Amino acid sequence: MSTVAEIFQTMEYGPAPESDKEVLSWLGKHERVFGHYIGGAWTEPGQLFDVMNPATSKVIARVTNGTKADVDAAVAAARAALPEWKGLAPHARARFLYALARGVQKHSRLLAVLESMDNGKSIRETRDIDIPLVARHFYHHAGWAQLLDSEFAGYEAIGVVGQIIPWNFPLLMLAWKIAPALAAGNTIILKPAEFTPLTALCFAEIAHEAGIPAGVINIVNGHGETGAAIVEHADVDKIAFTGSTEVGRIIRKATAGSGKKLSLELGGKSPFIVYEDADLDSVVEGVVDAIWFNQGQVCCAGSRLLVQEGVAERLVAKLRARMEKLRVGSPLDKAVDMGAIVAPVQLERIRGLVQQGVSEGATMWQPSWACPTEGCFYPPTLFTDVQPSSTIAQVEIFGPVLVTMTFRTPEESVALANNTPYGLAASIWTESINLALDIAPKIKAGVVWVNSTNLFDAAAGFGGYRESGFGREGGREGMWEYVKRAHGRRAPKSAERAGVAGAAVHQASATPAAASAPSSAGLPPIDRTPKLFIGGKQARPDQGYTRRIVSPSGVVVGESPEGNRKDIRNAVEAAHAAAKSWARATGHNRGQILYYIAENLSTRAREFATRIDEMTGCGARRAKQEVDVSISRLFTYAAWADKYDGAVHSVPIRGVAIAMNEPVGVIGVACPDEHPLLGLISLAAPAMATGNATVVIPSQSFPLAATDFYSVLETSDVPAGVINIVTGDKDALVKVLAEHDGVEAVWYFGARDGVRATELASASNMKRTWATWHERDWLDADDGEGREFLRAATQVKNIWVPYGE
Ligand code: ADP
Repeated sequence: MSTVAEIFQTMEYGPAPESDKEVLSWLGKHERVFGHYIGGAWTEPGQLFDVMNPATSKVIARVTNGTKADVDAAVAAARAALPEWKGLAPHARARFLYALARGVQKHSRLLAVLESMDNGKSIRETRDIDIPLVARHFYHHAGWAQLLDSEFAGYEAIGVVGQIIPWNFPLLMLAWKIAPALAAGNTIILKPAEFTPLTALCFAEIAHEAGIPAGVINIVNGHGETGAAIVEHADVDKIAFTGSTEVGRIIRKATAGSGKKLSLELGGKSPFIVYEDADLDSVVEGVVDAIWFNQGQVCCAGSRLLVQEGVAERLVAKLRARMEKLRVGSPLDKAVDMGAIVAPVQLERIRGLVQQGVSEGATMWQPSWACPTEGCFYPPTLFTDVQPSSTIAQVEIFGPVLVTMTFRTPEESVALANNTPYGLAASIWTESINLALDIAPKIKAGVVWVNSTNLFDAAAGFGGYRESGFGREGGREGMWEYVKRAHGRRAPKSAERAGVAGAAVHQASATPAAASAPSSAGLPPIDRTPKLFIGGKQARPDQGYTRRIVSPSGVVVGESPEGNRKDIRNAVEAAHAAAKSWARATGHNRGQILYYIAENLSTRAREFATRIDEMTGCGARRAKQEVDVSISRLFTYAAWADKYDGAVHSVPIRGVAIAMNEPVGVIGVACPDEHPLLGLISLAAPAMATGNATVVIPSQSFPLAATDFYSVLETSDVPAGVINIVTGDKDALVKVLAEHDGVEAVWYFGARDGVRATELASASNMKRTWATWHERDWLDADDGEGREFLRAATQVKNIWVPYGE
C-alpha cells in the first residue's frame, strides 16, 4: 500500500476502469444474439458469427451473417419506405434527424462503452470523440434536411442507398453515412464491418425509439459477401463505401455501367510534414494524435513523418521520450492512451509489415515497456532510416507504426508528400503562415491540417484525391453525394433535339463514291486536312488513317483524322505539362481567355453554322442556334472563372476550415454525338474555367466542328496543352483515357455500353468518372451548364487552420 505522499512522488497512474455493467445488461437483454434490423423489426437470428472483444479475446455476442435473401428483404423494405420518406416535408425529416441526435446523446455512455468493448479503442476516445461527433453529425444534418428545398432546389433524393462501412470508427462511420442520406430523403441499407457490428445494432434500437418509419433504416450484418450482395443488388440506386482501396476497386468494377451513383472513401498514407521553424513540442503531441490515436487504425493517420533535416534528430529524440510515456492497456481504463488492435488478423498484418520494414533495412524503435499479453495489443513503433520506396513507406499499415523520412527544401517536402498513389489527408507544421498556405494547395489530399491533425467535423467535408477515393462526407459538399437532379420536372425548353443524333448512322457506311461539294469556280476544292490538336499544335495522327464524314444526305463534307492509343498518350502528356501552370493562372486570366475564344468564334459564326448544318443536316436555323448558344456558354464559364468560390466552414474550433475548390487535374472528355460544337464547349469550358487541362474526344459522327474549333483556340491565347483534341473512335479512345494513370477524371457522354466500359477501366487508378447515357438538352441553360459542371470539374480540399496562442 503506498501513501499519498509516495503517489505524489512517483505520479504513477492507478487503474480507472469504466464499468461495463450497462453494456452487459444491454447484451443480456438480447441474450447476446442478434438478427438484422429490417423493415422496422428484428429478424430471427440466422447463421451466426462471433463478435470478440479484442482486449480480452472473449466472445461477447453473436450476430447473424446476412444472406442474399436478407439483403433482398432489406432492399425491398427500403424501397417500400422510400416514397413516404422522400415525400415528407423537409421540416419533418429535420425533426427525425434531431431525434436521432438526441437519442445518441441520451445513450452516449452505453454507446461509448459498447464501442470500446467491440472495437478495442479506448473509452477516452469513444466517449470524448466518436460519440459526440456522431451526435454532431445528426444535428448538423437535421439542418440540411430543414434547408433542403431552398439549398438544393431542383435536386431530389437518389433513392435506396447501400452503405458499407469499416471497423475503425464503427458508429461514427455509420453517422457519416446515414445522416446525409436521411437528410436528403433517401432510405438505407447499411452493413457494418464484421468485426464491429454492435453499436449499429444499438443505434437501430435508438432509431426505432425515435420513431424513424419502418424500412427507412435497415441494418444487415455480415462479411464481404453480404457487402457484395448489396453492391450488386439491382434495386439499389447508390453505393457509399468506406474501406480499403482493394475492395473499393472491386466495387467500382461491380457497379460500372449500372447507373448506381458511387462514393468511395478509401485508404491513405498521409504525410505529416514538419518544417524546421515548427514548435517541436506541439509537433510531438500532434504525432501522438496522428498515428497513435485509435492505435493508428485511421484511414487518414499521419503515418509518414516528413521532417526537415535540421530538426530531425531533435524531433526523433523528443518522440522517443514521449513514446516511453504512452500507456497501452485495457480500453475501458480511462487513463490509457492506446487500446487494443481490432482483431488477431490485423495484429498479424502489422507484425508482418514491421518485420518487412526491418528486413528492408530501416531502423525500428519501440518503448522499453511491454504491452499486456492477453488480447490484441501492439506498442507504438517508430521507424527511421526509411527509403521512400520501401514497403513501409508506401503501404498502408493501419496500425501504430510511424515511418520517418527527411527532406531539405519545401519543394522536396511536397515531392515526398505526394509520392504515394493515395491522397486523403496531410498535416503541415510550421510557424510561418506564408509557408503553410503555400504548401497546402500543393499537397494532393482532400484534407490538410495546419499545425493540427485528425480534426473532423460535420460541417467540413472529408474525402480523398486519387486512390483515396472520391466524394466527400460532411458539409454542403457531402450532401451532393446523396441528391440527384430532379429530372422530368419540366419539359425541355428547346424541343429541338431530334434528328441530330439520328444522322450519325450515315457516316460509317458512306461509300467512297460520294462526291465532295464542288467549289464555285468548277475547280477542284483545295484540300483541307483536319488534324489532331495536341500541345497547342496541329498534329498528324500516329497512324495515317482518316475517317470520311458524310452528311445525312450522302454528301462527303470532309475527312477527320483517326486518332489512336499513341495520340491519346501524347495528348495526356501535353495536358500534364500544361496542367500545373493553368491551375495556378488566376480566375481572371482564365476568364479572359474564355472570352477571347468566344470573340473569335463569333467572328466565324456563320462558317461554323454552315459546317454544322452540312454535317448534321439539322437545318440552318438550328445550326445558327447551336453556335449562338456556344458563344453564350463560353461567356457563362468566363463569368464563372473568378466566381466559383469555395467556402469557409463553420467548425467548432478556434480557427477556420477553408474549403477550396481545386481543379481535378487532367480530365479526359468524350463528347456527346449530338451538337458537335456545343457539346464540346459545354464540357471543355467548365473544365478550363476551373483550371483543368483536357483531352477531348469530339463527337464521333460530326467531328469537323471540333477540328475547325482548334483554329479558334490557336488565335485565342489558350496556352499549349490546356485543351487537346483527338478525333476518332470514341469508345476505343475513351478506354485509353480511362485506363491512363496520368488522367485524373474521365467524362463520358454517350451510350450505356460506353459508360460501363469507362467506369470499369477507371478502376485502374480509381479516377473520378462522370459518365452518363441520359439525354440532356444541351441548348437549355438549366440542363447544359452551371454548377453541376463546375462541381464535376473540381474537388474540394478542406484546409483547417487553428489560430490563437
Ligand atoms: P478494412 O481494410 O478497413 O477492413 P475492407 O475494405 O476489407 O476494409 O472492409 C470494409 C467493409 O467492406 C467491411 O464492411 C467489409 O465487410 C466490406 N467488404 C469486404 N469485401 C467486400 C466486397 N467484395 N464487396 C462489398 N463489401 C465488402
